[in-house]
Amino acid sequence: MDFIGQRAIVEDFQEKIKHNTIGHAYAITGPVGMGKKTLTHYLAKMLLCEGGEEKPCNQCRACKSYDEEGTPRLTIVRSETQRILIKQVRGLIEDIGIRPASGRKVYIIEDADRMTTESQNCLLKTLEEPPPYAVILLTTSFYESLLLTIRSRVVQVKMKPYTHDEMKRILEQHGNNILGKEHVLAWSQGIPGRALKLIDDDQFALNRQMVFQFLFQETEFAHLEINQYLARNKEAFLPCLDIMESVYRDALMVLCQHVDGLINSDKKDNIVAYAQRTDLSALAQKIDYIQEMRSNHKRNMNYQLAVDMMTLGV
Ligand SMILES: [Zn+2]
Repeated sequence: MDFIGQRAIVEDFQEKIKHNTIGHAYAITGPVGMGKKTLTHYLAKMLLCEGGEEKPCNQCRACKSYDEEGTPRLTIVRSETQRILIKQVRGLIEDIGIRPASGRKVYIIEDADRMTTESQNCLLKTLEEPPPYAVILLTTSFYESLLLTIRSRVVQVKMKPYTHDEMKRILEQHGNNILGKEHVLAWSQGIPGRALKLIDDDQFALNRQMVFQFLFQETEFAHLEINQYLARNKEAFLPCLDIMESVYRDALMVLCQHVDGLINSDKKDNIVAYAQRTDLSALAQKIDYIQEMRSNHKRNMNYQLAVDMMTLGV
C-alpha cells in the first residue's frame, strides 16, 4: 500500500537513498496525532529495502520480513514508563557497533523527548559519528524540548498538515466513512489523529448540538438548556467556546462571500441565515468576547458566573 501524503518528505528520502546521500540522523516532527510513527516506520522500511528503484518494493526479503516478523536490522527504542532510560540508549549504542552482513541498520527512537538528560547526553557521541551503515530516526512532538546539542546533530523533518482529500483516505484506511461528517476534517486541521478521535466523539457531537441550538435559536429556551448543560459539564466549557467561535468565524466568512471552506460545513444553511441577522463588527465583538471568557476561565473566575456570561451575554 502506498503511503498517503507527505510526498515532499517521502520523495526526498527516495532521492537520497537512490544517490546514497542519506544523512545519519533525522528528527521527524509534528503535532500529536500527526502520524509521525507511521511515517517514520515507512521511511525505515524504505531505508532497509534491498529491492529495485521504487522503495519500499514490498517484494524483497527485507520488505517481507519488515512486514512479518520484523528484522534484526531495525531497532525500536520506546519508553516503557514515561521516560527513555539510559540503559535503553546503551543497548542501542552496543547494537549499532555490530556491522550488518549487508544493507543498512535503522534505529527508531519514538517520542525522543522522553529521553532523560542523561540518555540524551549518552546518545550524543553516537549521533555525531554513527557507523556509515546506520541511520537514526527520532520522532517527537516536542522538538524544542530536546537538548540543543541533540538538535544540532540531527536534521529536522517537519510533517505538513494533510489535505482534506488525504485525510479522507486515511480515515477510510482506518475503516471510517466520512460521509455526513465532513466538518471533522476542518476541525482536525490536517491532523489525522484528531479526526480519528473526533469522528466517534459523542461529547463533541453533543457540544456542537447544544451550541448550534443556542446560537441558531432552535428552541425557545435554548439559552437555559445550554446554561444547565454547561453547569453540569464543566469540561465542556472550553470546547463549547471553541465551537461558538468557529460559528462566528464561519459567519464572518459568509459575510465576506467565502461560503466554501466553512469549518461547520454541515451547518451551512443555518450559518448563512445567522450571518444575515448580524454584521461584521458585531461578529468581531463576539470573537473578542470569547477571548475574554477564555481568559476569565483561565483566571478561575466563578464557574457559574462564567457560564451565565456565556449564555446570557452573547
Ligand atoms: Zn524491498
